Amino acid sequence: MNYKDINFSKYSSIKIGTTLNVALLEECVSSIEDYYLIGSCNNVLIGTEPPPLMMLSKKYDYIKIEDGILKIGGATPSGKVASFCKKNNIANFEFVSHLPGKLGGLVYMNAGLKEYEIFNNLVNITTCSGVKKRDEINYGYRFTDISEPILEAAFKLSYGFDETKVEMFKKMRSNQPRTPSAGSCFKNPEGDYAGRLIEAVGLKGKRVGDMEFSSEHANFLVNHGDGNFDDAIFLIKEAQRKVFEEFDIWLECEVVVLDKRYMSDKRLNRNAREALNAESYTTHT
Ligand SMILES: Cc1cc2nc3c(=O)[nH]c(=O)nc-3n(C[C@H](O)[C@H](O)[C@H](O)COP(=O)(O)OP(=O)(O)OC[C@H]3O[C@@H](n4cnc5c(N)ncnc54)[C@H](O)[C@@H]3O)c2cc1C
Repeated sequence: MNYKDINFSKYSSIKIGTTLNVALLEECVSSIEDYYLIGSCNNVLIGTEPPPLMMLSKKYDYIKIEDGILKIGGATPSGKVASFCKKNNIANFEFVSHLPGKLGGLVYMNAGLKEYEIFNNLVNITTCSGVKKRDEINYGYRFTDISEPILEAAFKLSYGFDETKVEMFKKMRSNQPRTPSAGSCFKNPEGDYAGRLIEAVGLKGKRVGDMEFSSEHANFLVNHGDGNFDDAIFLIKEAQRKVFEEFDIWLECEVVVLDKRYMSDKRLNRNAREALNAESYTTHT
């Protein structure tokens, strides 16, 4: 395998992490199972004890139309997809220009804005195991059960790029902070909003070091410059604990925490109340 040095304090959208040697997935070989795949790190928080990381090589950065189907490589940036659709008058991808990431990451997270989600027009994905149709995949709000690198995704092709939708999505994003973040920190619990709950427990604008639950939108954990992993994790746990104590609602992380100490930690990544009850939280000094 070839490797590439990546400085995560520059590469990741939340600007946290050190320089790490990242493997490049060029071919389907068995050793890829030893690595955790990243895209362009718009939804991840890299820890101080990260797992071995891998990313798709440039080979998977392409867009093509074949047999009336739009085929996009997993390493294709969302901005490139949006420009291609605009230039070729293709419909239903207008929202993608407002979602930072690469196509594989967008599909894996079923990224979207309100009811506009990447799965709406998905036909199938290609992984090292072959082609998997949409109805063979479990998916939902910011969730899929895909467990392999997505090399390519194929979409229904409809024509009619809609400029008014671009404006609509732009407006939808206007309340989001521009300070570096990893997007929404928590998923919205059913029937409620993570931002509202964080605000209700008094954590909107709460700052530890350079990390803060943004005073513009509480569900954005922003980095004011020199923010670090420990302060980010402290704030995440604090929000989970307080919201749980006050509302009996467990905030599930949308941000993917890439640190060996937390990756199997159900308290951070899953809806596991028992685990929280077992844990006594330490106070941050
Ligand atoms: C300012 C800001 C605003 C945002 N707004 C939104 C929003 O409105 N809606 C929304 O849905 N998201 C939003 N996001 C989050 C982000 O745009 C999406 O989660 C996007 O899908 C991340 O893509 P990525 O390539 O950066 O993936 P990464 O962050 O690198 O990875 C995210 C996850 O995807 C997996 N993954 C990445 N590539 C692949 C692949 N090829 N195959 C399989 N798995 C893969 C990784 O293993 C990881 O678990 C926002 C982010 C930011 C920074």
